[in-house]
Amino acid sequence: MRDGGHRSARAGRGCRVRTIDPHLGVVLRRLRSHGPRSRATLAAELGLTRSAVSTLVSDLADRGLVRDGGVERGAVGRPGTTVELDGHGICGLGAEINVNHVSTMAVDLAGEVVSERRLGIDVGGLAPAEVLDRLAGQVRETLADLAHRDIEPVGLTLGVAGLVDRDRDVLTVAPNLDWRDVAVGDLLRERLGSSYPITVDNEGNLAAMAEATPGDPGRQDILVVFGEVGVGGGIVAEGRLLRGRQGYAGEFGHMIVEPQGRRCGCGRTGCWETVTGLRALLDLAADPDDPVRDPAMAIDDRLDEINRRASLGDTRTLAALAQVGGWVGEGAAMLANALNPAAIVLSGYFAAVGHHMRPAIETRLQAGVLAPDAGGTRVELSTLGFTAAVRGGATVAVDAVFADPTRVARRPVAEGAVR
Ligand SMILES: [Zn+2]
Repeated sequence: MRDGGHRSARAGRGCRVRTIDPHLGVVLRRLRSHGPRSRATLAAELGLTRSAVSTLVSDLADRGLVRDGGVERGAVGRPGTTVELDGHGICGLGAEINVNHVSTMAVDLAGEVVSERRLGIDVGGLAPAEVLDRLAGQVRETLADLAHRDIEPVGLTLGVAGLVDRDRDVLTVAPNLDWRDVAVGDLLRERLGSSYPITVDNEGNLAAMAEATPGDPGRQDILVVFGEVGVGGGIVAEGRLLRGRQGYAGEFGHMIVEPQGRRCGCGRTGCWETVTGLRALLDLAADPDDPVRDPAMAIDDRLDEINRRASLGDTRTLAALAQVGGWVGEGAAMLANALNPAAIVLSGYFAAVGHHMRPAIETRLQAGVLAPDAGGTRVELSTLGFTAAVRGGATVAVDAVFADPTRVARRPVAEGAVR
């Protein structure tokens, strides 16, 4: 089993010198950020000899992580065969516990989604053990699906809508679930008995990692604002997640913007999420007996209905979107003044209806930032929507392979493999 390779590599630490070449990861990350290229190009770009690159590529191919691609175009001298990411036999798993759903996703080395599941449940109305049972059931279904296709998981990252103590894998506080000090990591491990590593992270952080595209200069310094019932987020600086002193950075939803305003799920008054969260929008847009406020209806259907009404010019819907958009812009301006990101990426429910909010957001952002033209900060809508956090979890699990390709063991050389 390939996970065995991961364990033995770990076990070997300290009792023998690891002969792993750090350049294995360098080559793999280069292929991810810059696309397929020949061994000669890799050698020139990385300052390595051609034979060193050939050895590294051969090692990565033995692990099923790269394969031969097409012929390199535009290369100087003799055209070479390119090397490209493979990794079709492995995947990272993401799992998510949010207010209205639990979900799972598997992503391969190239970032392609290979399996996806979402179950709409009222998580806050259930005991943590019950929610973990449902989630574990969903993970097992995903694993069965993957096993069927000969794909093995290299790790699982669980994203939760709350603060996470990552040293202990404990969900410290989740105001919108009303959970405190729940050992979600251990609860999931007990249920899955997995051989692969399981880690826990805040969903905003994971959504941010899903948006930070390796190699894209416009996606190296970004803020992600993830809107559900709560509003969370993450800060990516120079391509890395900024976690802060204790790992609690990115709790944008609890910036107090309206001190005389509404009570927040966290117990304070006037937090940003009380005026920008999904509940704020739906309360403004519809009466209590309106189907768009019915929690039993799938959230995508409710947002589709909001979009439909907005497109038809329904004044109440448009006013609600403009009002919430104004508040989004207000907070975005605070964040832009503090951090001057290249982009503020709006994710979660904002991705679905944000195009109707955009004029209000832009106006308040421009007005609220000291630097000319909002310091160049752009507002972008995520294309990942509600799947951003679970995708980020899967991405983080796969990233461990890019950091250390020896987590995936060598396998018998298949016919046609790169040598
Ligand atoms: Zn709050």
